[in-house]
Amino acid sequence: MRPTGKLHLGNYVGALENWIQLQDEYESFHFIADWHMLTTDLDHTSDISDNSIEVVIDWLSAGLDPKKSPFFIQSHIKEHAELHLLFSMLVTVPRLQRNPTVKEQARDLHLEQNMSYGHLGYPILQAADILIYKADAVPVGEDQAPHVEITREIARRFNNQYGPVFPEPETLLTQFSRLPGLDGRKMSKSLGNTIFLSDSPDKIKKKMMTAYTDPKKIRLTDPGNPDGCVVFAYHQKFSPRDSKQINADCRGGKIGCVDHKKDLARLVAEQFAGFREKRAYYESHRKEVETIIAAGDSQAKKVAQATMSDVYKAMQMG
Ligand code: AMP
Repeated sequence: MRPTGKLHLGNYVGALENWIQLQDEYESFHFIADWHMLTTDLDHTSDISDNSIEVVIDWLSAGLDPKKSPFFIQSHIKEHAELHLLFSMLVTVPRLQRNPTVKEQARDLHLEQNMSYGHLGYPILQAADILIYKADAVPVGEDQAPHVEITREIARRFNNQYGPVFPEPETLLTQFSRLPGLDGRKMSKSLGNTIFLSDSPDKIKKKMMTAYTDPKKIRLTDPGNPDGCVVFAYHQKFSPRDSKQINADCRGGKIGCVDHKKDLARLVAEQFAGFREKRAYYESHRKEVETIIAAGDSQAKKVAQATMSDVYKAMQMG
């Protein structure tokens, strides 16, 4: 994850919750992608350190366990950059330009004519991030799937050229890869439509009251349409068992949006009660968090160094 600061429900549903499940099935590595942050946030580098700690506090509070899988900071493991350099020789510029995710970013950020070399090439850095741990699988949302494909191509190209060093990792697609924000667009910090995992019950309620619902349902008894209603989308995720009933009650004009919002705000707040308690602990024990990261750094570094040694041996360099 990039160090964007406190995590929101979209980050939880689209990534973190999945990682927590996978940590028991796989040997995992979790890292803060601070170099990747530079592709779009060159002018906010002074926030990166603090924001990295905030993200790690959220991971810990949500139940990601550093004893099961190391947490580390990308820029602390310089080998990622070294492998990125070697990999950058194995990919053509047109291949990078064809990447649909980067194309979409170029369009959204109006960068078509002045995208940086680093931004265009960030999938190569991702390939290095993945392959330096010889990963067999990468849990990602749909938007990142093309980058796992480039990673597989790079692994294949390297292995054909120099001998078998890297696996070709599989994509583990996340089920909920797009949670809507309060306004119905994708939940995203830059759009200001988020509920943070760390928000208080009161804040969650206040925000939930602003959520987009069916504009044609004005009175409680008006029949509503839950498709496209943000509150119903959250309901399906956070209280799936009774979502069929809620769907019917909304359509039948038996429940009003205000009551539904209040109920759901309470449900969401309850689900994150344990999270808030743990977060309060880590906020006042930041040294502990720094120690966890330092331990993760050193575990990751050992694996990364061993891979680089395999790489140079295969290349018959050094
Ligand atoms: P980012 O901060 O954009 O790097 O996101 C970190 C992780 O959260 C990535 O795996 C994203 O795919 C995921 N994510 C971000 N926003 C959402 C959202 N609204 N719905 C689902 N997943 C999301």
